[in-house]
Amino acid sequence: MSFLQSLKNNVRQRSIHVCYVNVGSCNGCDIEILACLAPRYDIEQYGIYVHNNPREADILLITGAFCEQWEDKLADLWDKIPEPKAAVTIGNCPVSGCVFNRRGSFVDPPVSKHIPVTASIPGCPPRPTEILSTILSVASELFKDYEDK
Ligand code: SF4
Repeated sequence: MSFLQSLKNNVRQRSIHVCYVNVGSCNGCDIEILACLAPRYDIEQYGIYVHNNPREADILLITGAFCEQWEDKLADLWDKIPEPKAAVTIGNCPVSGCVFNRRGSFVDPPVSKHIPVTASIPGCPPRPTEILSTILSVASELFKDYEDK
């Protein structure tokens, strides 16, 4: 890999664009994502920028137990994100359905059944520091050799 390629990979690892989607949560995990944006955790100091345009995103954060209405919508959203990309689920809901997974409910976890998931952060809800560190470790893997491909 040339110097320029490795420089580009390094820069990309420090400019991570994230978009997030709630596919049926209690909002507890969404509040923890919002806490990452507040001055205490200040996600932008790590080069992570949150916005809701999937065409500009590198990482998709997903909260919620996956309501059936998201069947096509989440796949469409995933298709709009350009390569290289990764999906990270936040909390227990996208893995097991958590408190929503009971008889007669309309949820269909895990999210990994519907789109490929790179990492899952357990917890109900997980801490902002866990969300931050997972995004950083996924991004460094995502862009490590990207320019060489
Ligand atoms: S994991 Fe817990 S806090 Fe997060 S959306 Fe599910 S029930 Fe709410």
